[in-house]
Amino acid sequence: MNHQIVAERNTMSAEDLAALRANLHEQRLFRQEQLQQITDAATNRTQALLDRRAASQIEVRVKLAASARMVLADVEAALTRMDQGRYGGCHLCRRPIARERLMIVPQARYCTRCQQVREADR
Ligand SMILES: [Zn+2]
Repeated sequence: MNHQIVAERNTMSAEDLAALRANLHEQRLFRQEQLQQITDAATNRTQALLDRRAASQIEVRVKLAASARMVLADVEAALTRMDQGRYGGCHLCRRPIARERLMIVPQARYCTRCQQVREADR
């Protein structure tokens, strides 16, 4: 193993970016499949469900689909930023987003601090 002493800087290595890109592709596929399943369920099974349960299930499905679409849009935006070489910067404060955060949430648009501020605003 060839450990370079550049770890203190917040820059990401080519391997980091490749791992994040793979992660984003995986998430995109997962969300696309999830949306497909939700759509299939909505068209094929609605009539088969008990009426009493159907309403709440549809509501759950609508929420699931909405959040899946939101994540999918975020993931696609992150892939676009990666292609354009402007990935990893916070959209609010313009500072680089911590590597550890991107490893957990590769599609993050904001650094931890700005994300907390945004959530507190809601
Ligand atoms: Zn920020």
